[in-house]
Amino acid sequence: MRKKMVAGNWKMNLLWDEAKSLVQSLEENKEQMPQSVSVLIAPPAIYLSGMENMTSSQIALSGQNCSDHQSGAFTGEVSAEMLKSLNIEFCIVGHSERRSLFGESDELVADKTKACLDAGVKPIVCFGEQLEDRKAGNHFSVVKSQVSAAIEQLSDEQMKQVVLAYEPVWAIGTGETATEEQAQEIHAAVRELVAGKFDQSIADSTIILYGGSVKPANAKSLFSCNDVDGGLIGGASLKADDFLAIIKAAE
Ligand code: PEP
Repeated sequence: MRKKMVAGNWKMNLLWDEAKSLVQSLEENKEQMPQSVSVLIAPPAIYLSGMENMTSSQIALSGQNCSDHQSGAFTGEVSAEMLKSLNIEFCIVGHSERRSLFGESDELVADKTKACLDAGVKPIVCFGEQLEDRKAGNHFSVVKSQVSAAIEQLSDEQMKQVVLAYEPVWAIGTGETATEEQAQEIHAAVRELVAGKFDQSIADSTIILYGGSVKPANAKSLFSCNDVDGGLIGGASLKADDFLAIIKAAE
């Protein structure tokens, strides 16, 4: 069956010294991290190579974004192959901030997902509805079309490498969290979608994370939902104590 996962998305936060001390605190406390939980952090890309030597096998590293291209004249971009060349295991793609602030379309997110898989990097594909979609009752259709676009071209073997992350946009960084019922019903619908496009065993083994204002106080109840396999954590991943408490809540 699937393992729980807790992933920290640092976004564009922390200077190098602060980033190093956060990793050191996590490493010093790694014995508190349950073996049953996969832990990963996604620091800014510029820190990945330095952190590769600072993290033990218990803490995996992830990119926050990558190019849809393999290499070439794309100033400022980082390719999935570059991440792979540093042994980075994961990369977040399609985060709502990339979609809304940088205009990333479903098509581009699908191309980035493919670029990761082609390079041997596991994509963490984010999706989630805006507040107005939810108010209009369109949340299921929005989420299903985002997920379908990202996975429909994939083979079974590729799908087995994908992590999905439901992040309702209205819950990201707002302090407002989806209720357990809201999270569970979307996660179950997405798992059903994966089963329909691939098969039940692939759907049953796909990790589907929840993200959006997860904190130590609400992590356990969210992670105890049947189809919620852990969390993608923004703000609370910047404090070692909070991140550790959330990791323990996933046990
Ligand atoms: C995120 O950005 O992926 C996120 C979930 O942020 P926060 O936990 O701060 O809401």
